Amino acid sequence: MLEQMYSYGVEQLHTCCDPATGLRAIIAIHSTRRGPAIGGCRFIHYPQEQAALNDALRLAQGMSYKAALAGLPHGGGKAVIIRPDTAFDRSALMQAFGRMINQLNGDYITAMDSGTQVSDMNQIAQQTHFVTCTSQTGDPSPWTALGVYEGILTSVEQRYGSRDLKGCHINLQGLGHVGMALAQKLYDAGAQLTVCDLSPALTNEAEKRFNACTVNPESIYREKADIFCPCGLGAVINEHTLEQLQVDIVAGSANNQLQTPEQGDRLHQRGILYAPDYLLNAGGLIFVARIHAGHKPEQIRSQVAHIGSTLKQLYQQSEQQGCAPHRIADQQAQAIVAGSAGHSMAMSAGSNRKVDPAA
Ligand code: NAD
Repeated sequence: MLEQMYSYGVEQLHTCCDPATGLRAIIAIHSTRRGPAIGGCRFIHYPQEQAALNDALRLAQGMSYKAALAGLPHGGGKAVIIRPDTAFDRSALMQAFGRMINQLNGDYITAMDSGTQVSDMNQIAQQTHFVTCTSQTGDPSPWTALGVYEGILTSVEQRYGSRDLKGCHINLQGLGHVGMALAQKLYDAGAQLTVCDLSPALTNEAEKRFNACTVNPESIYREKADIFCPCGLGAVINEHTLEQLQVDIVAGSANNQLQTPEQGDRLHQRGILYAPDYLLNAGGLIFVARIHAGHKPEQIRSQVAHIGSTLKQLYQQSEQQGCAPHRIADQQAQAIVAGSAGHSMAMSAGSNRKVDPAA
């Protein structure tokens, strides 16, 4: 276990069992160097304990990178609660988890992730202050969508020399909390949408609201378009899909879009501009971290919109160095987390740019 922690650079690992409620949880704190670790809590079935541990370690590292490039005074952390196979009292379990977090004295701030919901965060909040995404915080997804939208505008400008989305053809995969909000923005800006989702209700909605064209989930990769926008699953850029892509840009909200970093190199070789996922989708994290720190939505809006400027800098460095953007993002994030970044491209919190997330 220590070897694994070491290889991910994870600073602390906490485990907790509470037989009274069925709680079995792991909290991985990747780094507290820049401030308390922040990151979501998963509540899903794991076939083995090892899989839960792997998830916590891997995802905590990713959160550190995301917080670093977002310029947040936080490190990354991740919690996983192994979903019990037998009946359990959800409120009691979440409260037990809240007590566990409270014992960490603020080294870790939890948030929503796969399998957890606002009501869970409310239960946790009964036991600790170190929680966000409660019903008082609100849904971070529209903020994630805003950051992705700004990143798409920057990518289009980088590729075509203009931020105009009129007539731009975008293949949007996944119409969930982020995808649907993003589709609205893209449609409003004049983009032409081809969409897919596992849920026909969601694709029907997109057809009606955005005049979108629906394709089945397997064929979205083959659709010729300007942009592929993954907002569903991770690892969608892989050996099966990569060569099918007929787009100029890949930019979306999904976490861990590249199955391996080498797939990102291959995109670069093919001349496809790839916007690193953890930079693009940081809007939700910026929102929850800043709300937790007492910032007002107006201030947060400009910080989320600044994702576009950070991405622009990254693309410029990519051009200058002849290196794929995701490699530069990783190097920058690692340097910031290690405290060795000289000239960092991380976002400054002081941007004055005003953007309406509903725009
Ligand atoms: P969600 O669960 O609300 O929506 C995901 C959607 O993708 C669902 O409608 C699902 O049916 C669809 N989907 C799943 N597999 C698919 C497939 N093979 N083909 C087409 N559609 C498929 O999730 P979300 O909150 O909208 O998040 C979307 C992605 O963005 C996830 O990868 C998530 O990790 C990432 N992300 C979300 C946030 C946020 O604020 N919600 C923040 C950062 C990153």
